[in-house]
Amino acid sequence: MEEHDVGDRSGAAMTTAFDGAPLEVDTRPAVLDQFTVDETGQAGRRPSGVVYPTGVDEVAALVRWARATRTPLIPRGAGTSLEGHLLAQREELIVDLSQANSILDISPADFTATVQPGLTRTQLNAATAESGLQFTVDPGADASIGGMAATNASGTTTVRYGGMRANVLALQAVLPDGSVVRLGRAVRKSSSGYDLKDLLIGSAGTLGIITELTVRLHPIPEWLRSLRVSFPTVSAAVDAAVEMLGAALPVSRLELVDTPSMVAINAFRGTDYAESPALFIDVESSSEPAAAAEEREIRRIVQANNAVEIAVAHTHTERHALWEDRHNLYFAVKSRHPGSRFLVTDTAVPYSQLAATVETTTRLGAELGLAVSVAGHIGDGNVHTMVPYTELNHAAVQQFSDSLVRHALAVGGTATGEHGIGLTKKKYLRDEHGDAVDVMIAIKRAMDPMNLFNPGKVLDT
Ligand SMILES: Cc1cc2nc3c(=O)[nH]c(=O)nc-3n(C[C@H](O)[C@H](O)[C@H](O)COP(=O)(O)OP(=O)(O)OC[C@H]3O[C@@H](n4cnc5c(N)ncnc54)[C@H](O)[C@@H]3O)c2cc1C
Repeated sequence: MEEHDVGDRSGAAMTTAFDGAPLEVDTRPAVLDQFTVDETGQAGRRPSGVVYPTGVDEVAALVRWARATRTPLIPRGAGTSLEGHLLAQREELIVDLSQANSILDISPADFTATVQPGLTRTQLNAATAESGLQFTVDPGADASIGGMAATNASGTTTVRYGGMRANVLALQAVLPDGSVVRLGRAVRKSSSGYDLKDLLIGSAGTLGIITELTVRLHPIPEWLRSLRVSFPTVSAAVDAAVEMLGAALPVSRLELVDTPSMVAINAFRGTDYAESPALFIDVESSSEPAAAAEEREIRRIVQANNAVEIAVAHTHTERHALWEDRHNLYFAVKSRHPGSRFLVTDTAVPYSQLAATVETTTRLGAELGLAVSVAGHIGDGNVHTMVPYTELNHAAVQQFSDSLVRHALAVGGTATGEHGIGLTKKKYLRDEHGDAVDVMIAIKRAMDPMNLFNPGKVLDT
């Protein structure tokens, strides 16, 4: 077999023995073409093939074969990442883990579940619900647990429950040398040795292929209030959000949506909400009287910040509808700009810089003539923008993105709160981390000297 030959290029799905493990490899051009574009419309090269391993033994055999043939690999979960993480740069082989999707164990007594990486977060939640438990990390998209770990995903509930690093206790991975390792322990804390579990989390498939994860589960709260509150200005909304955090209210979601985003939601969902900046809020309480008291306190804070409309959802159906509006925001904005590609930014800044950052975002968009929608996990200081573009204004969009990241770094923030560096944000890494990037390069070279695991992502070695 030649170095990159994974099968019949004339375009058939065929079975190849990868170091003794027979696996079907799909090389049909029409199938491979689907892997050349990502969720945001960015394009890469056609990969050499796609394989669908179902467990650790097959992944380990595949990695041994990849070493022997020097074939680069791109692990893949649900394919929802936004920073070009999955785009082939050479003729990589896609290792699609969506069929490694079993639940291995749910342990209500330990508040944990152990799963294979291709399981999606909604599949896990469907399985844990009858135990009264939930997996809380919620990036909106129905991402895989392995992909979420590999990007250190977070989302609407991170303000209360943390992101993936806080919720993955242990994992199993196949390293670039073909070894299978177990990292972390299924306990709530450990001070043992270097934390290699957290090194793999957020490494975007560049240091290991995750084949099993033990994650934390949390009780599904009984007493919940959800609110949508509109404000006259973004800064009034941000001030109210920070005040709620300062009042130690048990908020479990605290999301900002700006005026263009509310306009998009109304058009997409057929609603008639106030078209001004809004907060979407969940508060989790220990009893009905506590929930009522917490709702009163939220009302006091938002009214003191000039709220113009307050909607409270009490029932499960009402709450579901309220959060469907927020979760569909990306698609609502997309539907207003058919044929456009999208820049999605996710800078995060200290709370004290939030209002200025949102203002800078809006001003930059106006100066560059861009249709910017702002939303964000404001409870985490994480500001998202969604910006449609075509070839005609691609340069303006790049300038917008660069200016926004420079602003975030200048005020002590980060280029990416949750989507990751992937391919597209590599240029900001040294500005954010300085000489520490050399340590990252040394780690990558030590663990993957042949540069076979998702090459060209996160770092250039
Ligand atoms: C509408 C929308 C909203 C979003 N909102 C959020 C949000 O709020 N918060 C957030 O964090 N993200 C968000 N995202 C981005 C995306 O959902 C996350 O990055 C998610 O974690 C990716 O998971 P995935 O299963 O789709 O991984 P993929 O996109 O398939 O892969 C992502 C990366 O992980 C690597 N990888 C995948 N599986 C493995 C594995 N088993 N072992 C090793 N490496 C692996 C891949 O090589 C790649 O580098 C959003 C995306 C969309 C489309």
